[in-house]
Amino acid sequence: MKELLAETAVRAARYLAAIGDRKVVPGSEDVTRLEALGRLLPENPCEPAEVLALLDDVGSPATVATAAGRYFGFVIGGTLPAALAANWLAGAWDQNAAMQVMSPVAAKVEDIVREWTLDLLGLPSTSGVGFVTCTTMANFSGLAAARSALLQRVGWNVEEDGTFEAPAIRVVVGEEVHVSVLRALTMLGLGRSRVITVPADGQGRMRADALPVLDEHTIICLQAGNVNSGAFDPAKEICARARDAGAWVHVDGAFGLWGAVSPLYAPLLEGVSAADSWAIDCHKWLNVPYDSGIVAVREPEHLRRALSAGSAAYLTQSASREPWQYTPDASRRARGIELWAAMRSLGRSGLREMIERNCHQAKHFAERLRAAGFAVLNDVILNQVLVSFGSAEQTRRVIAEIQADGTCWCGGTVWHGQTAMRISVSCWATTDDDVERSLAAMIRIAKSVGIGW
Ligand SMILES: *Cc1c(COP(=O)(O)O)cnc(C)c1O
Repeated sequence: MKELLAETAVRAARYLAAIGDRKVVPGSEDVTRLEALGRLLPENPCEPAEVLALLDDVGSPATVATAAGRYFGFVIGGTLPAALAANWLAGAWDQNAAMQVMSPVAAKVEDIVREWTLDLLGLPSTSGVGFVTCTTMANFSGLAAARSALLQRVGWNVEEDGTFEAPAIRVVVGEEVHVSVLRALTMLGLGRSRVITVPADGQGRMRADALPVLDEHTIICLQAGNVNSGAFDPAKEICARARDAGAWVHVDGAFGLWGAVSPLYAPLLEGVSAADSWAIDCHKWLNVPYDSGIVAVREPEHLRRALSAGSAAYLTQSASREPWQYTPDASRRARGIELWAAMRSLGRSGLREMIERNCHQAKHFAERLRAAGFAVLNDVILNQVLVSFGSAEQTRRVIAEIQADGTCWCGGTVWHGQTAMRISVSCWATTDDDVERSLAAMIRIAKSVGIGW
């Protein structure tokens, strides 16, 4: 075991040292070679070291270099050194984080990270928090709590009696709602087509002046950080109106909520803390390994009730927080450990510096691309940049060539009818030099395609 783990460390370190120099995406021959991992299931055992060698030799070249500094697709973070190291140790520990009795350390670390996260993000300190796989599951869990709370108020027990004959709940979303919210509504029996959609402004923010009447049967889903523009829905005004009406406010704040750690960006989040539930991603901007998200609910009992499993006698209850009562799953890995390591290693100032550096890099991308003659379509208020290289066809061609070139990687989108390239700066490892190299490649390619003058 000892030699195997030492060998793994050597291979992993070699991988990380080299990915900054190779193309961001693997070549097609690397992907084809993955066939070597399959073929016939071996009849007999083989040495773990051989298994690892095969995985590294064949698997490593076919990875996407998201752990290095020049991947700007989707919203994808890397993994902080302390978080990666903690992930390895936690793998060795092999803890089941479901219950205190199964892992005191996993339970304790969740208590600590719960407090630290609520403090960092300026959310109510008594909120209930669950450690889930992603924002999609955090949206699911937060909206399950919302559904449970609103129906309980009218005397309907949705956990016992289901949704089919329940009093109606209205769900309000913005025109720019993330698909994960709709997916969560689908799974909850609330339906993705019966939502009321509020129009958005030019930056993708829900228009508060176009809000329908809110009432105590309404869940309104806000977004803090649009995946394209980075924009924030006007939480202050909407939360105040929702509070007066007795409506529930859920915030999808996947990456945007981390803006709260910086005094430069916290003003964008004004009013967000007045909501009832929040969904937060950790594998994006906190830069911990996949998979990691957080759900927070102002009144913990709504989350616990919504996710309750009924009673099985062997599932112990204790006076303090039982992790499995706050997540849809039971047995799970102790993902709180990496969150703890990330926060412990960065500290408040390190986290703020990481967020501010990425935002600054995004602004720099926008300024340089604009100066080179290309159109930046959004106000770059956070870490997201949308750039057009001309017509839809021209922009698509430039994106394809940038992806093939491999210096960096960016995806495409359509923003208010206009085809654009998205740049999302979300990785702790992105240096200013990475940004310069990427800009040089983007501008060279866009100009060689013969456009942008
Ligand atoms: C990324 C993202 C999600 C989904 O997050 P997953 O962790 O992939 O489930 C939801 N909402 C917003 C705003 C996002 O940026």
